[in-house]
Amino acid sequence: MKLKGLDIEVIAGPCSAESCEQLIATAKALSAIGVKAFRAGVWKPRTKPGGFEGVGEIALEWLQQVKSITGMSVFCEVATAEHLRAAVKSGIDGVWIGARTVANPFNVQALADALQELFAANPNLRQMPLLVKNPVNPDVELWCGAVERLKNAGASNIILVHRGFSSYTPPQYSKIQRYRNSPLWHIAIEMRRRYPSMRMLCDPSHIGGSRELIAPICRQAMELMFDGLMVESHIEPDKALSDSAQQVTPAQLEEILSHLDVRSNRAGAEILASLREQIDVLDGEILELLAKRMGISRQIGEIKRQNAMPVLQNERYSQLLNNRIEIAAQMGLNEEFAKELVELVHRYSVGVQMEDSEKSEESNPTSV
Ligand code: PEP
Ligand code: MN
Repeated sequence: MKLKGLDIEVIAGPCSAESCEQLIATAKALSAIGVKAFRAGVWKPRTKPGGFEGVGEIALEWLQQVKSITGMSVFCEVATAEHLRAAVKSGIDGVWIGARTVANPFNVQALADALQELFAANPNLRQMPLLVKNPVNPDVELWCGAVERLKNAGASNIILVHRGFSSYTPPQYSKIQRYRNSPLWHIAIEMRRRYPSMRMLCDPSHIGGSRELIAPICRQAMELMFDGLMVESHIEPDKALSDSAQQVTPAQLEEILSHLDVRSNRAGAEILASLREQIDVLDGEILELLAKRMGISRQIGEIKRQNAMPVLQNERYSQLLNNRIEIAAQMGLNEEFAKELVELVHRYSVGVQMEDSEKSEESNPTSV
């Protein structure tokens, strides 16, 4: 699965197999840029009924045509024992278990049982690459549980795939959420710690959900020393029947890959990612505290108003400022920084009290 000139594994291909022509055209273009492993969804798990649910078993034959024309190895998703048996029977080279399936232990166990039977009939199948995506929910134990079930069944070539985690607020409803599925790198890092000899790929397509995010996510994955990428690529992405917005053309994929810098200092990158996550958490806590402070400041404003007290009370402000600068200095923070920060917070706090007071004047004019 190694791509020429780039020492990582790349598996690429459309979200879904739509027609034999689409598969062959996409595969030829990907093969020409050096991709050796081709993916296409044959059965598609869709959130709601009525969407394109894949063409089914016929696509397994198309994948075999791709293999004989291009020499690429071919992969598809399996969600049930029937899918797995049909895919293996068709001569598939590897399969992936999708995020929704991994989230359900019954489904994973049913796949593991089917694998065990297939291995008994053909022990060579144990080496077949078995890609296990992270579950949709950010539960490292659930991901591990799936890996354990498959290992217990005798699978010896399990590859982990980080495809991001479903979040409460998808990007269309949020100003700060950019991703379709949040990349929680610390969970991927924890999986690496638990399974140091297992390879791990990043799926930037399902993380990003949109074309322009593929390159930056690939870069992050390289900084974190992922062993490779699983990328959705379609010969005509705008016409794709599923996940159109996140698919790139083979030429765009080539461009993205040509700019990737494969880092070698794994330890440093992992520590950095973990530190950045701590920073993210702390920033969230700081903002939460500021919001809480602002709420209390509003209550103070209300009391001042009811008691006809002025908003700005100079003595209190100068005491507060000096006290905070002193505490900050004791904590080793730069005094100038502390002063500016407290002044800013205070300025906005006064602003909020003034604003509230004006609003209440407008709704209850008291003076003549
Ligand atoms: C896919 O790879 O096409 C897919 C459905 O992925 P996931 O299970 O990650 O959503
Ligand atoms: Mn997809």
